[in-house]
Amino acid sequence: MNDQSGWARRIADVLRALERPENMLFIPAVTLAAFWLGGERLLIVVALGLPAFMLLAGLLRARDVRSATAMNPAGTASRHELADILDASLQEAAASGMATACLAVMIDDADELSVRHGFAAQAEILARAADRLASAMRGGDTVTRLGGSGLAVALRPMRRLDLEAMVQIAARLQAALSAPFSVDGAQIYISASVGFCQSQRMPGTDGASLRDAAITAAEDALRNGPGAIRAFSADMARRRTDREGMRAALEKALDAGEIRPWFQPQVSTDTGAITGFEALARWHHPERGVLPPSEFLPDIEEAGLSERLGEVILFHSLTALSKWDRAELRVPTVSVNFSATELRNPRLAEKLRWELDRFDLSVDRLCIEILENVVAQTENDVMVANIAALSRMGCGIDLDDFGVGHASITSIRRFQVRRIKIDRSFVSHMDEDRDQQRIVAAVLSMAEQLGLDTLAEGVETPGEHAMLAQLGCGHVQGYVIARPMPFDDTLDWMARHRSQVSQVARIGTRAR
Ligand code: C2E
Ligand code: CA
Ligand code: CA
Repeated sequence: MNDQSGWARRIADVLRALERPENMLFIPAVTLAAFWLGGERLLIVVALGLPAFMLLAGLLRARDVRSATAMNPAGTASRHELADILDASLQEAAASGMATACLAVMIDDADELSVRHGFAAQAEILARAADRLASAMRGGDTVTRLGGSGLAVALRPMRRLDLEAMVQIAARLQAALSAPFSVDGAQIYISASVGFCQSQRMPGTDGASLRDAAITAAEDALRNGPGAIRAFSADMARRRTDREGMRAALEKALDAGEIRPWFQPQVSTDTGAITGFEALARWHHPERGVLPPSEFLPDIEEAGLSERLGEVILFHSLTALSKWDRAELRVPTVSVNFSATELRNPRLAEKLRWELDRFDLSVDRLCIEILENVVAQTENDVMVANIAALSRMGCGIDLDDFGVGHASITSIRRFQVRRIKIDRSFVSHMDEDRDQQRIVAAVLSMAEQLGLDTLAEGVETPGEHAMLAQLGCGHVQGYVIARPMPFDDTLDWMARHRSQVSQVARIGTRAR
């Protein structure tokens, strides 16, 4: 900063100080002192001059706020600029014994915003959100874009900047974004999560470290949102490092083919014939052995790698179908589990069709498993359109874990669900437990009325298998048939199963 701008800044500070309510208490004293020292003339000068000064201070504040938003309208290189501004504030704060802080404001569900309204609308909202934040702040505070869907505020040094004051400022920023944004005639509501770090709690010494700490806190808030507020803590930084390590490990595992599906057969209760295989993800971990999805699926979601996992599982599943075809083993379908994240991708249907074409497989060979509670909760237009497009295209839609969620008959109809998968919790001990039997019988009769096929999952005993066949359940899947197995084992298993099929078929027909 050169000398001239240093002076300008000091004068601006004096003018801003005059604007503060507590300093106005001194105006009568200053006016009286002027009269005592310089008589009527000085009294007139001070009495007229002070309001003029204050007006100037007000104008300066308005200019500051405007410049705060205008300084980075395109949002480029703003992270560096923000670090520079914070560096200057930190120096000033250290020299005057004051404190400063950085707040990062992240729009909740920003991906959904762009999917629903398009990137142009999202950019427009971000620009206007920056304006609103600038208007909500004091002169001397700076609002910048962070890149992506984030904004940041650098506070000018203040005497009191404790946790309570920071939470109030964060809430003020959230309130500034609560009114709807009118874009292309639509009223769009957003919410934001805010993270902040005060200079006295920052992990490093420079502006970049203060900025990054605020971003870390905002990312934590975003995970706990919508509308969350979080103060930076050292613990957060450690968790972030752990997460980054986990993400890197998962990406490597996906690229190296360590994560791939195992296959569990589904068979007809009538004939015992194989009607499909479900693909279930496994991580062949170099040190920890074969890990089930419960050990890594939450981390995959958290790391934003759900789509990548979906691609890997789909690729291996279609490869398996092709290989079974080439070996002339009749496997009608392969079922793949789709996460809510994957179902939100507007290009999903197109992507699946392309993949199936690439493998020269007809669309009806792929069955899509969707959790009942995903179908039940879906208010998301893209997801609704996607599921409808997939069933129109000819993929089978299986409603997974049926009975655990709250899917309505309307949503079952709307998504043209082809089959319901009765959850293991209802199947377990159903050959001995009358209540379980009644529930399964009720589900099967509802399915029949609606013209839906049925599959019972988690079938563990011959007794459960026989009872399901007797009640008219279409297909079974579970340890009693086979546990999930690597692709290579499916070939031998199918050969053995074929020799036993006549026996399984007899269970089904005798019971009917
Ligand atoms: P799910 O889709 O309900 O899969 C059935 C789970 O029950 C599998 O657990 C399977 O191994 C297990 N299972 C099968 N038969 C029996 C049985 O007779 N008794 C018992 N006790 N369990 C049985 P797994 O493989 O650990 O998968 C757990 C969940 O992880 C799956 O539940 C599914 O929701 C999810 N998942 C697995 N693979 C993927 C994937 O590729 N993508 C996504 N998004 N989710 C996946
Ligand atoms: Ca499933
Ligand atoms: Ca299931």
